Amino acid sequence: MHQYSLRQLSEKLANKEFSAVELTQHYSKRIQTHDPALNAFITQTLETALETAQASDQRRAQGKSLSALDGIPMAHKDLLCTKNIRTTAASKMLEHFIPSYNATVVDNLAQAGAVMMGKLSLDEFAMGSSNERSYFGAVKNPWHHNHVPGGSSGGSAAAVAARLIPYATGTDTGGSIRQPAAYCGITGIKPTYGSLSRYGIIAYASSLDQAGPMAVNAEDLALLLNHMASFDPKDSTSSEQPRPDFTQTLNQPLNGIKIGLPKIYFEQLNPQMATLIHAVAKQYESLGATLVDIELSHTELAIPTYYIIASAEASSNLSRYDGVRYGYRADNVDNLQELYERSRSEGFGDEVKRRIMIGTHALSAGYYDAYYEQARRARRAILNSFKQAFNEVDVILSPTTPTPAFKLGEKLNDPVQMFLGDLYTVSINLSGLPALSHPAGFIDGLPVGAQLIGAHFSEPTLLNLAHQYQQHTDFHQQTPTPYS
Ligand code: GLN
Repeated sequence: MHQYSLRQLSEKLANKEFSAVELTQHYSKRIQTHDPALNAFITQTLETALETAQASDQRRAQGKSLSALDGIPMAHKDLLCTKNIRTTAASKMLEHFIPSYNATVVDNLAQAGAVMMGKLSLDEFAMGSSNERSYFGAVKNPWHHNHVPGGSSGGSAAAVAARLIPYATGTDTGGSIRQPAAYCGITGIKPTYGSLSRYGIIAYASSLDQAGPMAVNAEDLALLLNHMASFDPKDSTSSEQPRPDFTQTLNQPLNGIKIGLPKIYFEQLNPQMATLIHAVAKQYESLGATLVDIELSHTELAIPTYYIIASAEASSNLSRYDGVRYGYRADNVDNLQELYERSRSEGFGDEVKRRIMIGTHALSAGYYDAYYEQARRARRAILNSFKQAFNEVDVILSPTTPTPAFKLGEKLNDPVQMFLGDLYTVSINLSGLPALSHPAGFIDGLPVGAQLIGAHFSEPTLLNLAHQYQQHTDFHQQTPTPYS
């Protein structure tokens, strides 16, 4: 059963080839067998999942299924609040936090009948690129247990790649859906800023954060976006733009589509990676698209700009964890100041503290103009470069990451090297654009991803391209041997 895509599972449930309970039992068994080695789940909710599946079967028997997702197992990144179910952000700070409400994206999927199997690991507060920063221990890459699954949605990517669930939610502030999707050989999309509600998603950097689906192929992402994207009055930056049916345009011919290849993205790229991405471009060309070499100015500003803005917003968002209202509280303190200081120093991990310190510094009097103001200007310049490019082409093709997944521990003590790996992903969040990562081949047995970047609200085009590519390739169907 676990080799089927979400759409196939949906059809088979509708044809009564198996029940939601049988499907849920099958995935429960897989999670119990394989998760001890992968460590993708922080919390499992397999018993309540079975009850949800039973209710789904009853609905189906009465002809009252809620949606194509009804009765199908899945799991959420543990950054999305789930009512009465522990939500940790992979931090000691929230180790025992039980939200009293659902994130809107969680509600949307629950109302579609999704069967939640648990909560998936991430880098603490979604800050990181390797999942090694989870308070609950590193997650392993299912293709090679000595390698990282990527981050911060590494638990989501590893669980889907190992077929422990057919799809998962992720969030992406600077690449956290696309980079782990690439490292684990699955497909993921970071939607346009504002298309999915941020309500109930623990905030990292509010002007950059977006949730999105992670699955085995683009067709499944389209199905999922149909249920996840919604206008939400509870999110002040939610877009009122109408959401299309994302599955309607998957089969449009690619004739006439112009794909831009930014020269600068290939200048220092590792040759094996460049070869694979050029092969992807050729495949698109053979499907009718036209390839165009383009300039993309200000690319060199992306990483410093991102790390200033993301850290500045994080330092402000994370000031709420003070040991008073909720979260970790230090004991045996003498006064309020000591309560704040000790709760925060004991509750946060090193990477989170690093970001808070960078952010506080960048926002402090005397440095604000030099760092934060400059970064805001650079952000605008980066957006303008993309806008200019989209006057010329429909989409931009790039690698998702400069290399395949690195080894566990390899970059842990070198934050700058870790940051540099985000070269192709962060500028998309700075510009609020949608981008999709799909499997593009393998280097030394490890998957790599190609990234399609589009103008605001061009998700249908990105999904159309990726779906057509996946009709003619099978990289996305390959699974790591121990999990096939
Ligand atoms: N790796 C980036 C960071 O550490 C992106 C993380 C994310 O998208 N949440 O901030």
